[in-house]
Amino acid sequence: MSDQPAHRADLRIDLDAIRHNVSVLSGRASRSGARTMAIVKSDGYGHGALAVARAALRSGADSLGVASLGEALQLRAGGITAPVLCWLHAANDDFAPAVAADIDLAASTPTELERIIVAAEQRDRAARVHLKIDTGLCRNGCPPELWPALVEAAAKAEADGRIEAVAVWSHLACADEPGHPSIDRQAERFQRAYEQARAAGLTPIRHLANSAAVLTRPDLHFELVRPGIAVYGLDPVPQDGDHGLRPAMTFRSSVVATRRVPAGEGVSYGQTWTAPRPTTLALVPVGYADGVPRTLSGRMEVWLAGRRRRVVGRVCMDQLVVDCGDDEVREGDEVLLFGPGDRGEPTAAEWAEAIGTIHYEIVTGLYRPRVTRTV
Ligand code: PLP
Repeated sequence: MSDQPAHRADLRIDLDAIRHNVSVLSGRASRSGARTMAIVKSDGYGHGALAVARAALRSGADSLGVASLGEALQLRAGGITAPVLCWLHAANDDFAPAVAADIDLAASTPTELERIIVAAEQRDRAARVHLKIDTGLCRNGCPPELWPALVEAAAKAEADGRIEAVAVWSHLACADEPGHPSIDRQAERFQRAYEQARAAGLTPIRHLANSAAVLTRPDLHFELVRPGIAVYGLDPVPQDGDHGLRPAMTFRSSVVATRRVPAGEGVSYGQTWTAPRPTTLALVPVGYADGVPRTLSGRMEVWLAGRRRRVVGRVCMDQLVVDCGDDEVREGDEVLLFGPGDRGEPTAAEWAEAIGTIHYEIVTGLYRPRVTRTV
């Protein structure tokens, strides 16, 4: 946690909300007979990986997923003993410490599998491997033409006691657009890849579903689901109805100064906003260096002194200005930049919509040196 005073900018993380969301998601999964892996990469989508991991494991998840080896080892260093999968390996990643720490490793190519086998030999223990097939995202995952070689090599390594082939898995490109034809196409390719693995003698589980598929495609839950964004209460498919998720992050600051200005005064860099009447302005000490996108200038409100108010003029590096009219606003008053929306404050989804991005990008970009995080 940063040692900056909490009044500057503070992320409040509601672990009750995380627990609630995980029990909603794992409840849906278990109705299909599937288990739940909570995705806590990128520092728990900006919420704090370790705290989220502990909360998730207490409320229905029984494993965790992260992108990088470093993230996986940090969870182990924090005392997490549950299975942890990591999948995005750098060319120079050393798998030996991961095998020693009992981290589940994705293999996306025969070469990657070979490196994992070498690490298993070094540590003299079987590595737990999830074989990843690219079914249409054209990103991380085994290209279909290499899949037969990958499963054959995995079957041999399993027979030799070097690996345990835990799973066949893949990732969906358009799950947040329910009904998109690519979803069924990917599911068919996935099933074929799984059957090839079985034919090679492997007995893996399957996992494919991210949050959107957990919420909209129970037929794709298979034996395990991998929700990320929904764990944090942000709905990837709001068009599908209310899924009862609770956003876990609130971004707060407080007023550091107020001033009265006459009509006609221009405000902030470029004077893009001019006071149309005498008004009180409140200064809030957060800006784009603290993760408030500058592109929100002119499109942003905050909740302050009992209601929403407009942020006027440009968002600066370290500060922004709120138009408070004739209302009484004092130094120290709490400012909610966004939150779950319970009190009428803006939400991360509203920020994302205003600037044409996704709420994922908003929440993962906020934990910075001047922003404290309170869990
Ligand atoms: N699985 C993999 C491989 C991912 O990369 C991600 C996130 O990008 C997830 C699961 C979780 O996805 P979401 O946050 O959309 O639920």
